[in-house]
Amino acid sequence: MDKYLLFTPGPVNVAENVRSAIGKKDICHREVEFEKLLLSIEGKVLSLFEIRQKSRYRAVVVSGSGTAANEAMLSSVVGDKNILVLSNGEFGERLHATSKIHNSNTFLLEFPWGESMDMEAIDTFLQQQPIDVIAMAHHETSSGILNSLADVGALSKANGAVLVVDCVSSAGAETIDMEKNNIAFCSSSSSKAIGSYAGLSFVIGKRTEFEKLKSNPAKSAYLNLHKFYDSINRHSQTPNTPAVPLFYALEQALENILDEGVSYRHAKIRRKAELLRQGMSKLGLEFLLESQVMCSMLTTVFVPPHITVASLRQKLREHGIIIYEGKGRFSGKAFQVGNIGELTDIDIQFFLTILQDILSQKTSTAPSNVTPIFGRTLCPVVHNDNEVLVTEDSR
Ligand SMILES: *Cc1c(COP(=O)(O)O)cnc(C)c1O
Repeated sequence: MDKYLLFTPGPVNVAENVRSAIGKKDICHREVEFEKLLLSIEGKVLSLFEIRQKSRYRAVVVSGSGTAANEAMLSSVVGDKNILVLSNGEFGERLHATSKIHNSNTFLLEFPWGESMDMEAIDTFLQQQPIDVIAMAHHETSSGILNSLADVGALSKANGAVLVVDCVSSAGAETIDMEKNNIAFCSSSSSKAIGSYAGLSFVIGKRTEFEKLKSNPAKSAYLNLHKFYDSINRHSQTPNTPAVPLFYALEQALENILDEGVSYRHAKIRRKAELLRQGMSKLGLEFLLESQVMCSMLTTVFVPPHITVASLRQKLREHGIIIYEGKGRFSGKAFQVGNIGELTDIDIQFFLTILQDILSQKTSTAPSNVTPIFGRTLCPVVHNDNEVLVTEDSR
């Protein structure tokens, strides 16, 4: 296959100018060219997040995928204080697992996968347990649900907690208002809706919050957020050797977004999602989520009874189309179709046509015991490390 169409929530088909930017120039990262490149990326990241008071924020770039930026935040921000992780899916669970490695006072409020977080439950928990830091994923990519930054932001503000948000899969596709929503730190990565190659991630934070990290003991040598801040602040540099070719590609991808306008890019991604969703609905496919809670970059679709996810993916792959397998609780039950990167309307039409062909061949030997996930009620369960404080498993 000489070209794959990546209908995945990252990696993405990159723009031609991103592809060529990666081989732009051989430079030494301790020279002024790199410093300019880093500051250019920082400025563009702050513009992408539509930060109004830019002088109050800084963005640092980490050579590592999105998980690296998340681990940098979780290992650097908490110190010996209490952190509450809010989770309604795989990526919330990963934040919790990462936090537990670095922070002994990690609490978890867990909500059912594919369902909105219950603000009353969070509020009640915050009344009972002093919490200093709250962490959550904005777009929970495992289901496609967009969690409310406004609601959690208001709760964090009311309780004086520092809010840390994983925006890995929402940045570039959805509005993230750090200023309005009281967000201290946000992470994202190069390879999702921003449209570049995998391998870089970044953390945007308030200067005042970055400054506070200085007094926390270092829990990681490489992913020490204060070190990244200090390095860009003092020298316009990264603490260690940066993946320079990826920086060139990221700079170009950010420029592509800013050239067409951030809201224009958001609208473009949303329109593609609508095209895909309308087309898939017409084929009789059903989605995990109601459209009003879905992120605009991804759709989670129940696999119809007469085919398996594995066989559907294989048949699409034969036509150069790549989709994602449902993760965790949706494994085997659903597949995911992304609509970011350089996918044209023609590509989307092609995908829908091939999908229709595959679904109309009723030759598969798939088992018919695929049970729907609707109606599942879990928890919330609250964990303080090994201790389960509240368990209302109402299944
Ligand atoms: C993709 C993703 C990550 C990071 O995953 P990597 O494999 O490190 O790129 C983190 N959080 C969310 C919500 C994601 O979608």
